[in-house]
Amino acid sequence: MKRLVLVVLAAGGAALWWKNRSSKSVESWSTPSAPEVSEEPPKLGGDVDPELLAILACPLDKQPVKREGNYLVCQQCQRHYPIRDGIPVMLIDEALTPEQAASASS
Ligand SMILES: [Zn+2]
Repeated sequence: MKRLVLVVLAAGGAALWWKNRSSKSVESWSTPSAPEVSEEPPKLGGDVDPELLAILACPLDKQPVKREGNYLVCQQCQRHYPIRDGIPVMLIDEALTPEQAASASS
């Protein structure tokens, strides 16, 4: 009986080792154990909850934002915050400056 337990443990350990080893080799791309992570980049746009929209503000100057197409535009600095799959990305790093927005739309 003891021997059987040892064999099972050894098999389990080998499986774990193999799992760790194989998961490491695919680290650079999406892991198969996380099916909720889509391989496609989130698309721009989508429906934003109006209540959420009402409380959102520009992280830079705390001014309200207004929806324009697929972006939320700050009323103060005119930065364009992208909406991805209905989720507003209120990050200064992700926002388009007024100049970038102008060149993107033209
Ligand atoms: Zn702003």
